[in-house]
Amino acid sequence: EDVAPAVMPSATELADALDRDEIMVAFQPKVALVSRGVAGMEALARWHPAGAEPVPPDLFVPLAERHGLIAKLTRNVLRDSLAACRRWRDRHPDCSVAVNISPLALANPELPEEIEAALAEAGVAPGALIAEVTEGVVIADPVLASEVLTRLRIKGVRVSIDDFGTGHSSLLSLMRLPFTELKIDRSFVACCDTDREAWKIIRATISLAHELGLDVVAEGVETAAVEARLIGAGCDIGQGWRFGRPMPAA
Ligand code: C2E
Ligand code: MG
Ligand code: MG
Repeated sequence: EDVAPAVMPSATELADALDRDEIMVAFQPKVALVSRGVAGMEALARWHPAGAEPVPPDLFVPLAERHGLIAKLTRNVLRDSLAACRRWRDRHPDCSVAVNISPLALANPELPEEIEAALAEAGVAPGALIAEVTEGVVIADPVLASEVLTRLRIKGVRVSIDDFGTGHSSLLSLMRLPFTELKIDRSFVACCDTDREAWKIIRATISLAHELGLDVVAEGVETAAVEARLIGAGCDIGQGWRFGRPMPAA
């Protein structure tokens, strides 16, 4: 995890890795804080080129976005994530899988139908899929993006706003877009037991999200102290090393 590569890979190397299906998916649990039950798993793309250091997604996802490769990356991650979810649901019928959808992918009007086809192919109910959209990146065409998200939601897919607090969403967009979940960015969560300002933001965000009917997920829960704080503040779900690192599907 998080090892800096010696050299930035090229777009060609990424394209080849995608063609050869070398981008893998790791899964990290999202845990209901009070019951400690696993609510679902988040799919996180992993690239470990043969004979080189792993390339972190914070590097290769933007590379894919810049070079027209994000559609293929999204498709591959979605396919692997739904296949994994299908198997988990044999024993855990309520288990969901969350897939990160680049704001760039929301510029594709076919996305809802493509996702619907992938769900049908994998035999997974739409309600088992959560599309996580980061608010950390500006959305070029907000009207189209909001239409795509709404059509996904109508098909039964859940929609989550990721990295909340780092980005550009207005309160109006929170109310108008069909989100079902809000994920508080780990920059606020990690220090909420020691930093007064972070703690105030956490409490205010949870109360706002609940007012809007959204489930609240705290990202980056590393310690028991932070977990206890979040339970006290009424946060629904936690994700972080405290509960489990990203791991293989099995
Ligand atoms: P994200 O969606 O906010 O994912 C959560 C990140 O926090 C992951 O980093 C995860 O490994 C890390 N994390 C989880 N718990 C903890 C913790 O307790 N402490 C710390 N320090 N970190 C924790 P990762 O896997 O490096 O991914 C980084 C970002 O790359 C993701 O942030 C997401 O925005 C993007 N990404 C990953 N996979 C995909 C993908 O398939 N498609 C797209 N579009 N983006 C992806
Ligand atoms: Mg995410
Ligand atoms: Mg996040």
